[in-house]
Amino acid sequence: MSVPGKINLLGLDREGLEAFFTARGDKSFRASQVMKWIYGQGVADFRAMTNLGKALRTDLDECAEVRLPDIAEDQCSDDGSRKWLLRLEDGNCIETVFIPEADRGTLCVSSQVGCMLNCSFCSTAQQGFNRNLTAAEIIAQLWIASRALDNPPDGSRRISNVVMMGMGEPLLNYDNVVRAMRLMLDDFGYGLSKRRITLSTAGIVPAIKKLREDCDVSLAVSLHAPDDLLRDELVPLNRKYPIRELLDTCHEYVGDSRRRVTFEYVLLSGVNDTDGHARQLARRLEGIPAKINLIPFNPFPQTRYRRSPPARIQRFFEILNQAGIVTITRKTRGDDIDAACGQLAGRFSDRTSRRARRTAAAQETRL
Ligand code: SAH
Repeated sequence: MSVPGKINLLGLDREGLEAFFTARGDKSFRASQVMKWIYGQGVADFRAMTNLGKALRTDLDECAEVRLPDIAEDQCSDDGSRKWLLRLEDGNCIETVFIPEADRGTLCVSSQVGCMLNCSFCSTAQQGFNRNLTAAEIIAQLWIASRALDNPPDGSRRISNVVMMGMGEPLLNYDNVVRAMRLMLDDFGYGLSKRRITLSTAGIVPAIKKLREDCDVSLAVSLHAPDDLLRDELVPLNRKYPIRELLDTCHEYVGDSRRRVTFEYVLLSGVNDTDGHARQLARRLEGIPAKINLIPFNPFPQTRYRRSPPARIQRFFEILNQAGIVTITRKTRGDDIDAACGQLAGRFSDRTSRRARRTAAAQETRL
């Protein structure tokens, strides 16, 4: 709970923290010292920051705090992924998911409570939009997960990658997301490289252009359809920023660098998964430095969509591959704890709805 009058130092980027210290008449290097404690060591108590001097520690304790959401639930999947349900000060809940792989550990971070984009195949859309997360609430997801995961003694980090792919549209919470990503990049923060942070967007064109100037992390774009008619239906935002404009902006984003934009494509049986769709998709991406991430649809109650059968997914993959596009099929992870793409709901889900969701999932795999 927040203490009235205390300033939360979590979520202030280096500049913000330096301004905090200089305004108090302290040296600006205190900012990097405190950041090392908060983010490097996972320490939230100023009294434990032993290189600060007793007077400063006591002072900070009186006027400031490192305020974090509560952990409402902490679940582990059979496949090793782990999901935290975090309760924010206003009672809203958000979810964060850790996905371990052989060569990396990825944290999937939320940017909003709910979402306003209304993509027809996404369960977050069903709960509507509540509010933007603050920069503190975004970076707190890394803080809590890093602490819970206990970094190994060899100095390596369990969280090597971050994807802004949880609940919400990160580019509609631009300032807070950029501030939080700067903390992820900062050497005194989490020290991640730009290549290891991926922001996923449904395609807010002006914000992609701005991001290129402000914080050009890796870009992923939720495409899901090769033509505007179908994309209008799946991602209503397309009516505002149609495919041509979006693809041109993506191309500009990577420019002449050797980087590629990842295009996410959820495969919905009989909707966007035919050979024709695959060929059309390959044609549309011609000349664009692209990678495609095919995502088997993850069902949720009351959805009208079904996951494409494995043979269909394979065929779709092969067509893109033969067209020379680097394509991967995303493995479904954490679906036993409702942690898979598009399943993050955030609020307390009661047991009945969880069971209903499982039944829907079981039916899908039988198809
Ligand atoms: N708003 C952002 C980030 C959140 S969604 C965006 O649109 O990119 C993260 C990814 O999960 C997106 O690619 C989204 O299309 C995908 N997704 C949403 N619902 C899904 C579902 N039911 N099954 C599989 N993937 C889904």
